[in-house]
Amino acid sequence: MDGRDAVRIYVSADMEGVGGIVLREQVRRGEAFYDEGRRLYTREVNAVTDALFACGADQVIVKDGHGGGLNLILEELDERALYAVGATPMERRFPGLDGGLAGLDGGVAPGPDGGAATRLGGGMESGPDGGFAGRDGDFAGRDGAPDGAFAGACLVGYHGMAGTLFGVRAHTYTPTEWQALELNGRPVGEIVIDALLFGLRGVPVLFVSGDEAACREATAHLPHAVTLVTKWGTGQHAALIKPPKAVRAQMGAALASAMARAADAPPLVWPGPYELRIRFAEPAQADARHYDGVAAERIDGVTAVYRGADLLDVLSRAL
Ligand SMILES: [Zn+2]
Repeated sequence: MDGRDAVRIYVSADMEGVGGIVLREQVRRGEAFYDEGRRLYTREVNAVTDALFACGADQVIVKDGHGGGLNLILEELDERALYAVGATPMERRFPGLDGGLAGLDGGVAPGPDGGAATRLGGGMESGPDGGFAGRDGDFAGRDGAPDGAFAGACLVGYHGMAGTLFGVRAHTYTPTEWQALELNGRPVGEIVIDALLFGLRGVPVLFVSGDEAACREATAHLPHAVTLVTKWGTGQHAALIKPPKAVRAQMGAALASAMARAADAPPLVWPGPYELRIRFAEPAQADARHYDGVAAERIDGVTAVYRGADLLDVLSRAL
């Protein structure tokens, strides 16, 4: 490093908005086209990380945010980034975001002597308590951890919120359970909620890729973010697509422009207190929850409201 602060970028990746992905069979383990979906997803994520390193990133963490969180083809991943895999609850949705991974034994900033992943492996085996034991859900506070602030986040392969007109694979977190979410009276999906989670850490979203519905949703709330459209939905399961190779080829210019705006991009912050309204698909889904009538209230057969001053607390209880 040349004296400047390391530039860290967090990539949250989903499958549905990736170039070439349209059908459920491409995004569900065990389905006929899942292997194809994984390949498209992995190659697009690699194109993103490659573009980020090419335009000045020193450290990239990629979260596999789809389903159970292990869809990327591990053997094909770009060796310079680190990957958060496996499912995590809402309050730890982006592992490594707090303080990066810089405090791990051996460090992770890519250096001349080898890949970050190799040295992360070394770190996991060392330490008096077996490595990760004793931390509070992230990597901050580990011995010698420098300020691991992230300069920005990228939402790759995202999709429109549940109910979006012509949103390819549009949904909000679960494929079928939720018809709609509203936060403080505004309809929200995964793009806004994830941007708010990054915003809680002071991290601006710089880039969003996905179908045209996802990009439109992003632009409405994140006017500073650069968007890259991968396809135009003609239905929930249908689209006019760009060839995946073309999408990957466009990542370099799109991310260069996103990174160039990083210094001016504000984190997304909505003032509290917060009220999150959930409309379920079925009354039974709302029946299964606990309501105290104040912080969580059942409004009707399919509607529940969660309230609180702390956004993370509200999201963690509700989602
Ligand atoms: Zn997904």
